[in-house]
Amino acid sequence: MKITAAFPDLKLLFIFLLTVILTAACQTDEEARWWRGNMHTHTFWSDGDDFPEPVAGWYKENGYNFLVFTDHNILLETPVTGPVRAGHRLIDQELWQAFSGDHPALEKYVNLFGDENVDIRKDEEGNTLVRLKPLAEFRDEFEQHGEFLLIMGNEITDQQAVHLVAAYQDEVIPTVGGKPGERAAMMDEIVRRVDEYRERSGRNTWAVLAHPNFRWAITAEKMLEVENLRFFEVYNGHPSVYNEGDEYRASTERMWDIVLSMRLAGGNTNLLYGVATDDTHRYHGSGATPGRGWVMVRSTELTPGALLDAMDRGDFYSSTGVALNDVRFDGKRIEVDIEPVEGVTYTTEFIGTLSGSDMTSHPSVDGEGNEIENTTRVYSDDIGKVLAATNELSSGYTLTGEELYVRVKITSSADQLDRITGEVIGKQAAWTQPVAPGLVRVPGRYLD
Ligand SMILES: [Zn+2]
Ligand SMILES: [Zn+2]
Repeated sequence: MKITAAFPDLKLLFIFLLTVILTAACQTDEEARWWRGNMHTHTFWSDGDDFPEPVAGWYKENGYNFLVFTDHNILLETPVTGPVRAGHRLIDQELWQAFSGDHPALEKYVNLFGDENVDIRKDEEGNTLVRLKPLAEFRDEFEQHGEFLLIMGNEITDQQAVHLVAAYQDEVIPTVGGKPGERAAMMDEIVRRVDEYRERSGRNTWAVLAHPNFRWAITAEKMLEVENLRFFEVYNGHPSVYNEGDEYRASTERMWDIVLSMRLAGGNTNLLYGVATDDTHRYHGSGATPGRGWVMVRSTELTPGALLDAMDRGDFYSSTGVALNDVRFDGKRIEVDIEPVEGVTYTTEFIGTLSGSDMTSHPSVDGEGNEIENTTRVYSDDIGKVLAATNELSSGYTLTGEELYVRVKITSSADQLDRITGEVIGKQAAWTQPVAPGLVRVPGRYLD
């Protein structure tokens, strides 16, 4: 068909095409919604204490829309791509979990899926071996279009407690190795490897620095050495990762403000985004249990590509319980609307650093004046200060142009509970991603 036959006037054709494009754009806008996901999850494939299927089931039943499996240096696939651990057996390129005695996961698994669906055998020492099913074998049992999605990722688990999580992979991203003094270079190289994978695969995956305070491994200054690091865990649900820091060491939030301030003051417009995750390991007892920290990602559809593109744009927030109806930024004003819960009060803080603030720092010292090794330095209180605060459910902050960045933290009066044991583990909170004045969002970075 000749276009000129249907559209004798080119102007008409142009108007028709414009209408089609605008209609599509409007529909897209209307359909964008928040999807809840956990992006850091362990199973029997490494050091988690359950099979991946009940783990997927737990998240699906508890209001999540997506789950990323991030076992250590391994993908849930056959032939096996990663380390075979002490509790594992490798039989015909397949991974089997060995049980020397009773294990709560084993009985539950057989009850849940039935004898006929579980591959069990005994080895010569009397251990019960159960075959671990790769993701491709069980994903259809759980995935539901527009409801629930499983994503293959891994935790790139390097030496010296340098761990970076990446979602949506079809190959393991190799570790680097190194000495304690080489952590920044190790991080930098892993970020480069993930960037290289992204370019090569076309999958918009980015490295997320996991639990910086685990073993007090990573400081704000080390993060600053990695100029292309764009994501880190501001909250990790594992009980031994010191999100809050301690008397002498900076919290992850403090590190976030330091990195944002120093980067933007120095002309690096890569805004660091903060992710909340479970880092789930324990599904039966106490410890790193599920349901502690998650992301809410705003996109039109529930696909790995759409979710990762939205996170790339910074269109997500992190939460340990607080839900937001909306987060808006038009280049000048940032606004948030909290989804209220009856009887709960909220404090919303607009946090940022003004240009011209004191950027100097000195080493952190203990009570006797001795410098604490490998610790984030001490900076002025003007770094990451509260610019405004309110108890309103809907609030906003208009940037004056003096701010290097602004981010919003919402703290709730409601307790954050361990979903398995019921114990109180903190107060519920949410963190929006930082915005900067005059910077326009484009994939990858903010530019003038
Ligand atoms: Zn880790
Ligand atoms: Zn982990």
